[in-house]
Amino acid sequence: MFEDRLRELEEQHLLRRLRLVESEPGPVATVEGRRVIVMASNNYLGLATHPLLKRAAIEATTRYGVGSGASRLVSGTLPPHQDLEAALARFKATEAALVFGSGYLANVGLIPSLIGSGGLILADRLCHASLIDGCRLSGADLRVFRHRDLAQLDSLLARRSPRRDTLIVTDGVFSMDGDLAPLPELVALAERYAARLVVDDAHGTGVMGLHGRGTLEHFGVESRIPFHMGTLGKALGTSGAYVAGPQSLIRYLVNTARSFIYTTAPPPGTAAASVAALELLQAEPERRARLWDNRNHFQTGLKALGFRLAESQSPIIPVLIGEPRQALTLAERLLELGVYAPAIRPPTVPKETSRIRTTVTSEHTREQLDAVLAAFRNAGQELGLI
Ligand SMILES: *Cc1c(COP(=O)(O)O)cnc(C)c1O
Repeated sequence: MFEDRLRELEEQHLLRRLRLVESEPGPVATVEGRRVIVMASNNYLGLATHPLLKRAAIEATTRYGVGSGASRLVSGTLPPHQDLEAALARFKATEAALVFGSGYLANVGLIPSLIGSGGLILADRLCHASLIDGCRLSGADLRVFRHRDLAQLDSLLARRSPRRDTLIVTDGVFSMDGDLAPLPELVALAERYAARLVVDDAHGTGVMGLHGRGTLEHFGVESRIPFHMGTLGKALGTSGAYVAGPQSLIRYLVNTARSFIYTTAPPPGTAAASVAALELLQAEPERRARLWDNRNHFQTGLKALGFRLAESQSPIIPVLIGEPRQALTLAERLLELGVYAPAIRPPTVPKETSRIRTTVTSEHTREQLDAVLAAFRNAGQELGLI
């Protein structure tokens, strides 16, 4: 039975397998024995390998141990967890913050805490899978609106009973497309129809906004969106996630979010490294400047080569291909040319939109990015894509 299904996936060019990265996850890494330039990491600011984060993790591990030993509500809340939540609230200028083991866990805990059966959720079609799973778990009715389609969202809001408890759910930066949710317009709709807006800023945190506070800062709507979630495993280079918002919401989540309550607290070393990451993020804005310079250089280069690109407004720059098989062929060819940029296929992205999703970091050098562009040119011409 498993074998049949695996064979089917393989025939459809949708089979996935794990690839071993045998070195630190830097801009150059060893992938299955080959030294390659990595264009597939969300470690946007290079913090995952930063000595200060490593040292913070080691010191906290020496002091508090490797594992937390229990869930947060039992005996798992250690000083690094409290420090991290205080640091997140300061960074985000909210009253409080709550840390979860991962972004996936945060979303499947947050949404069912906010809404239940009888409620209505309106979610962007390209929302992250963890948001969709959170919506399904909640038991509320889930309606999906076309990607960034404000007119459709408006009409869905207008048609519902105005008293119906309603959540609008969106990514801040869409993870597979790199474009942004129209947050000012979404806030305006939420306010007009008395709905609540849930923003997942996994890829915005540390990347978007003058101070790296995320997509809410980028659009100047922080004061109008009382809470949001984001992750620590991307630009912050560690692991875990948070909800930042009013004290009352955080206390409520401590009491209701099942993926917070019924799971072992994150390791103290990871929490301590996240505190160091937040400090670095604020102390070294030049990292973000380098990231955006690199991103602009690379996007301009890909465009000039004639590739069809998604409408990215972030360091996620997808090269649209279409059929899974062709996306796989391009990824394989790029790997042979020393570039690791895997194919993203359904069900992660809609049918007919298989792509090579590239991500740029602050740590890539100009030479590396130009080498990647040369590989894209060669592979693209060979395959008749450009
Ligand atoms: C990566 C991601 C998540 C999941 O976060 P993890 O910490 O990796 O579990 C959630 N939402 C979005 C939009 C993401 O890109």
